[in-house]
Amino acid sequence: MKCPYCSFEESKVIDSRSSDDGEKIRRRRECSKCGRRFTTHEIIEIVPIIVVKRDLSRESFDKNKLLSGILTACQKRPIPLETVEGIANSIENKIESELSRSNEREISSQYIGELAMNALRSVDEVAYVRFASVYKQFKDINTFMEELNKILSENNSAHR
Ligand SMILES: [Zn+2]
Repeated sequence: MKCPYCSFEESKVIDSRSSDDGEKIRRRRECSKCGRRFTTHEIIEIVPIIVVKRDLSRESFDKNKLLSGILTACQKRPIPLETVEGIANSIENKIESELSRSNEREISSQYIGELAMNALRSVDEVAYVRFASVYKQFKDINTFMEELNKILSENNSAHR
């Protein structure tokens, strides 16, 4: 933060207080060179999560879009709305915490799709396969059947 009087780049903070809503911090600073005082206001910046799509185009993460994708897969299935919302929320939280840990803001749409598929898998097989078929963009009925068989055989071995 440059001094507005002499443009020197270092200053020390002599007083800090946040606004009533806690969204702004007001800092009183003193220039280390000329000693004059000035005030800065700092705003907490909310950076959106950026989703990188297959074609490398980018858009900001939209939880409602994820929610409607999952809802479509769950159509006419005995799945409560709360469960669907819970899945969308937990995916958002997981992405948010992973990104803040790695200090990045970009995430691939495939990864989000995988998270949703994994969550749906334990909830409802039909919804899972529907979702997977959209996300994995099965090219033909054979790849689709392969995936389906994989799920069925995994389930069978789990029940044994
Ligand atoms: Zn100065």
